[in-house]
Amino acid sequence: MNRVLCLAAHPDDVEVYMGGALLGFMKAGWEVQVWIATRGEKGRLQPQQGSRMDEARAALGSLGIPVEVQGLEDGGLADSQGLERILHDLIAKWRPRLLFAPHPCDAHADHAALGACVHATEMGTGTVLWHWLDANPRVEPSHFLDLGSSLAAKLALIGYHKSQIPGPEGPRDHLPDGRDILQRAEHRDRGHGAAQGRVFLEPFLAPGSRRSESPCILESVQEFLDSGHRESGGSS
Ligand SMILES: [Zn+2]
Repeated sequence: MNRVLCLAAHPDDVEVYMGGALLGFMKAGWEVQVWIATRGEKGRLQPQQGSRMDEARAALGSLGIPVEVQGLEDGGLADSQGLERILHDLIAKWRPRLLFAPHPCDAHADHAALGACVHATEMGTGTVLWHWLDANPRVEPSHFLDLGSSLAAKLALIGYHKSQIPGPEGPRDHLPDGRDILQRAEHRDRGHGAAQGRVFLEPFLAPGSRRSESPCILESVQEFLDSGHRESGGSS
């Protein structure tokens, strides 16, 4: 059984930034686990009832994906004591074939702190690291996953995060580029698709991969295993 461990700083990260890959992994029958560092309690938009973690559990639970929440301080991951130890234990416990994490150069401080910590964590051999990328990454993607016809299913997954989708009447002025998470995900994936002559593409970065003229387009999630930088076990 191929195991995938996805690391996130906030409750909606994996759905927004790699929801298409999640759908692909589940369709392929892989075992997926999501770990979320914080409860997202600092976000301006909070649910009227329940919590952002309830929304994440509903979204990922709809695919049968279990969620583990660490409960570290939202906005404070850069100062979190013991994060490296936590990640080490998590990776040792799950022994994933594929590990997905934010990039150390991510514009969000929590994403960047988590990404940097993953780089500092000894992963052992057999684990292939990939980075999911935010809406305006400071690094060039090395690979794209072709979402084919699964964008609607990805957006449905993101739609579970109702508190983050204020609607036309709700507060929107604080949203990056005025876009909520649904609009951000579709805009990003459509933009990458258009640039590469496809429709919708999710961007990823394989650490250690050499920049080439044209990024590699993955037609299926199996190709994450075949295209990843296998030697990247350990620090990279
Ligand atoms: Zn986030």
